[in-house]
Amino acid sequence: MKKIFVTGGAGYIGSHVVKALGERGLEVLTYDNLSTGHAEAVLHGQLVTGDLADRALLRKTLSEYHPDAVIHFAAHIEVAESVANPLKYYRNNTLNALNLWEVLRELRLSNVIFSSTAAVYGIPQDNPVTEETALAPINPYGASKMMSERLLADLAAAEKGFDYVALRYFNVAGADPQGRIGQKYRNATHLITRALKTAKGEYDRLQIFGTDYATPDGICIRDYIHVDDLAAAHLAALDHLAGGCGSDIFNCGYGHGYSVREVVDVARRVTGVDFCVEEAPRRAGDPPALVADSGRLRAATGWKPRHDDLEFIVRTAWEWERQLA
Ligand code: UDP
Repeated sequence: MKKIFVTGGAGYIGSHVVKALGERGLEVLTYDNLSTGHAEAVLHGQLVTGDLADRALLRKTLSEYHPDAVIHFAAHIEVAESVANPLKYYRNNTLNALNLWEVLRELRLSNVIFSSTAAVYGIPQDNPVTEETALAPINPYGASKMMSERLLADLAAAEKGFDYVALRYFNVAGADPQGRIGQKYRNATHLITRALKTAKGEYDRLQIFGTDYATPDGICIRDYIHVDDLAAAHLAALDHLAGGCGSDIFNCGYGHGYSVREVVDVARRVTGVDFCVEEAPRRAGDPPALVADSGRLRAATGWKPRHDDLEFIVRTAWEWERQLA
């Protein structure tokens, strides 16, 4: 595998993966509509500004580049927004993925890595969650990803020689330890970013959404993974595909979770700011707890986390956040 085509490579997770591909000496073409991504976040390779809905440009770019593998990040990612505006999610996350799968099939391209999510599991019976857990998303974001994953699985079953790896991300956070890239959205909703922006004074308080969940302290639990460890999982998935191991699905997380309150404590400690926190009603679409069993990823690819440390995650995110205007 030498040439990698990356949709959404100008976005948060995509840009960290492009960085890792560059460090590995691979050739990269990023295809991104820059709706939430940033051209300057693409640290390596070339950038084509384009939309997945533009099939002509997508086909032309892919047929000229002829990649050995395709990593598909481009998507909307906010649970609450997906509840309020579901069709936006089905159009971008499901229909645009279908566009991409169709073009790949037309051009006889294989080796897809797909950004899926723990949201496909809905409210799992047990935590940590294995890949065998039934898929039962409770919000349109999770449903939109579940459907594109299924399209991919059905296509792989029908087309000999078409292989994919779906990576189900748990809660991705942190930033490049060298401070070159990080999360940069206009209206950040994700917990760690939101907490740090509150410490910075951009918001007057952080709300804890829901205190009556069936968890030890009544507050939601998530498994936070550093974005560079997640990027390494993509390289491991590439090696898996290159090794002819066939299609697979892997959970990406560390295997233990933190409640929102624990994250707040770490954010206060790292920033040195005792920012205001308020208990608030539940947010629509949130499951109580999501923790990854990543045994399959580790066993199949040899992936090992390097930054399994919430304080490191928050510190790298803070160093990135404080230098943003
Ligand atoms: N959360 C919160 N306050 C915020 C943002 C998030 O209490 O301002 C909670 C949210 O309810 C969830 C957890 O933090 O339980 C992680 O949410 P996030 O949006 O970061 O990621 P998600 O799990 O939705 O992908």
